[in-house]
Amino acid sequence: MKTTFYSINKTSFLKFDQCPKAFFLHKKSPQLKDPISKEKQMTFKRGHEVGNLAQHLFPGGINVSLETKNLEEAYYLTQQLIEKKQSVIYEATFVFKQTLVMVDILNFNGKFWEAYEVKSSLKISDVYIKDACLQYYVLKNSLAEFNDFYLVTLNADYELKEELNVMELFKKRSIRKDAEKNLIFCESKIEKALLTLEENKVPNLPIGKHCFSPYSCDFLGTCWENTVHKKSIFNIGKTDREQLFNWYNNGITTVDKIPEQMGLHKNIQIQIESISKEKEYVDETNIKNFINSVKTQYCFLDMEVWQAAIPKYYNTKPFEQIPFLYSMCYEINNEIVFENYLKPIESDNREMFLKQILLSTAKFETIIVYDKNLEVNILNNLKKLFPEYSAKAQELIFKLTDLSIIIQNFYYYHPKLKSNFSLKAIAEIVSEDSNYNNEAISSGLVAMNVYESLWNESNPIIKETIYDQLKSYCNMDTLISLKFFNLLKQKVKD
Ligand code: SF4
Repeated sequence: MKTTFYSINKTSFLKFDQCPKAFFLHKKSPQLKDPISKEKQMTFKRGHEVGNLAQHLFPGGINVSLETKNLEEAYYLTQQLIEKKQSVIYEATFVFKQTLVMVDILNFNGKFWEAYEVKSSLKISDVYIKDACLQYYVLKNSLAEFNDFYLVTLNADYELKEELNVMELFKKRSIRKDAEKNLIFCESKIEKALLTLEENKVPNLPIGKHCFSPYSCDFLGTCWENTVHKKSIFNIGKTDREQLFNWYNNGITTVDKIPEQMGLHKNIQIQIESISKEKEYVDETNIKNFINSVKTQYCFLDMEVWQAAIPKYYNTKPFEQIPFLYSMCYEINNEIVFENYLKPIESDNREMFLKQILLSTAKFETIIVYDKNLEVNILNNLKKLFPEYSAKAQELIFKLTDLSIIIQNFYYYHPKLKSNFSLKAIAEIVSEDSNYNNEAISSGLVAMNVYESLWNESNPIIKETIYDQLKSYCNMDTLISLKFFNLLKQKVKD
């Protein structure tokens, strides 16, 4: 064993695969990392919960990471457990060629060792396969009688009945064939990564498409610092990134340096001109058409859904969309009125959700939402679940009008959007007090996780606070739509 116990683990290996510079900074200058977003933290938390549940597939094991937090001790403890033929080990720790892996579940079937990597996902991605191949490579070289490696994912077809059936909730797939083909790939990547560390200088790599693929890099704040400019070409959205990086690598870093040329799409030209002149773009004709399509009685609506990885309600599946909250707002005599309904988490009362939303929206002729796909999808699912409300739910679907087409079709553009066309970006335009900075909840994904935290919450005061935060977040979405609609009316007033 070398004095440096290990140099690479699966996180750093995958970083090296994405970008050697990201790997080097991760190892040598971790303080430069961008802060971890709430969304990422919640994804990690969900991964742990699903991983812990999957241990029930092979019960009664010894969890090495609960015995010690010291990785060197974890390695030696694993060796001892293997010698003793401990049949199930969680977080079994191995090192080969300075590469450390911790296997979620290691099982001895009486003849061979089999390893399982658990993913809180329905599908197997390329990154999961690379991650599993690395573990396979290390195990193959450090564990006698090692036979196979499986990726374990959630089963999209599983439906919860009276009791959770862990054996049916998960499904597994052997990656041995892929891993055997990738042994040389892993070995050569590890060697290159170790060499990068030995050379001890930051790899000279320019920014590029790899900064976002397969994941958004943790060092965007460092590497992309020079691109933060109000006229940066990276503020152009809905365009081919390849083109942007071509410009960037040729010294065209701001929009006013883009040579006049034929062939740029109209939507790109709108953005270039708008960013360059620091002026919004207004397509009066199309905005007027949109406004005229809205009937006299209108309101703004937003819904939130919960997609639990481990289903909680009878007859529901992993990651099934369960609507739990809607908010609507409208104006009466220049006063903004909010209405909302939050489904208590304890029971799957989607029928009540549907009844409430039908009741609240009945008096309106047009219901404005920002990107109606989610709302249409939810209502169609509710129609199937509760056919007795089908006609009324369909009526509601017909009344939905999608405000996002104004932005998506470039009927309105503002340089502040900076390639982000979401409602959160619109918040920056409509008014300073309409933003999410002061909200405890800042995105749909956070809202979903905060709602899920209520599942085990018994303190009524905490519950009440969370309910208020969720409603306030959803109200904010509808308020921004309302303000944006009023802003559009203002722009075409004459
Ligand atoms: S931001 Fe891009 S160039 Fe910088 S380390 Fe990350 S992937 Fe590499």
